Amino acid sequence: MRFGYSERCLAHDTGERHPENPDRLRAIRRGLAKRHSVEYTDADPATKDEVAAVHDEAYVDELEAFVDDGGGSWDPDTVASEGTWDAALSAAGLAQWAARTALNGSNGRDTPFSIGRPPGHHAVRDDAMGFCFFNNAAVAAQTVLDDGTADRVAIFDWDVHHGNGTQDIFYDRGDVLYASIHEDGLYPDTGDIDETGNGEGENATVNLPLAAGAGDADYCYAIDEAIAPALTRFDPDLVIVSAGFDAHRHDPISRMRVSSEGYALMTDQIRTAADEAGAADAYVLEGGYGLDTLAEGVSMVHETYDGRTPVADDGEPDAKTESRVDELRSLLDL
Ligand code: ZN
Repeated sequence: MRFGYSERCLAHDTGERHPENPDRLRAIRRGLAKRHSVEYTDADPATKDEVAAVHDEAYVDELEAFVDDGGGSWDPDTVASEGTWDAALSAAGLAQWAARTALNGSNGRDTPFSIGRPPGHHAVRDDAMGFCFFNNAAVAAQTVLDDGTADRVAIFDWDVHHGNGTQDIFYDRGDVLYASIHEDGLYPDTGDIDETGNGEGENATVNLPLAAGAGDADYCYAIDEAIAPALTRFDPDLVIVSAGFDAHRHDPISRMRVSSEGYALMTDQIRTAADEAGAADAYVLEGGYGLDTLAEGVSMVHETYDGRTPVADDGEPDAKTESRVDELRSLLDL
């Protein structure tokens, strides 16, 4: 894969013992150093105007002033430092790079994956929250729509948390599909199955909250039976994966049980669904807080695009997963 990476993303300093810290990117890079055909690209930061295409200008100005004053706790979870403004614009810029590069024809071994931080999917139109300041995947989607290189973009979010920010930004839009599998009841406690979009965006929001304990068989079943059909029906030009790795069984902040191999299986499924829709695909980093499992998860995505065939899972999904998926299929008429 081609990885988007910038040293500027290390300058977002969340203080000691914060789970979202620069060591996450260092761990990913150490993990990838053992693999072949890894290529890094830096990209220009997003501009303020590009970020304000999906965020309220007043919020963007307020954040800039907050960081200029030295930062601090925006809320109890979301901490800014002097380097946060540049890091956040850089993370958004890397996501733009990934989307543009994919639409430019980089696929297979050259598929782009932006490993920026701070992450983005909790950032709503007018606020930062949940470690997120700018919604990187949303900025990337809006950028390629504005470029005119895509008419329709799908964002599939496999982070263990619901991407309330991405949903919020595109909830009433028919040109961006947002689909998420997340742990039911976990922060920020949004993403109910019956949140399906509004107006032009009706049925362009797809939420599958799964019970704690779901593993590879549950995720693969959910993608096969609900997410992939929703993606195919939407017929996007680009699929952006909001790739968090905190549903891993050894991640410290969730109770999901996805294995490292599970990320390879999900990657293979999404790649196939994107191919079937004739869509480009790009990956944008979200969460993932166990350093080893985060590095392994990213490596599995890379290896899958590099030609490794994932080892099929022969487990069965839980009955709770099956009934949730049935409910979603009938709600969305899939
Ligand atoms: Zn997360």
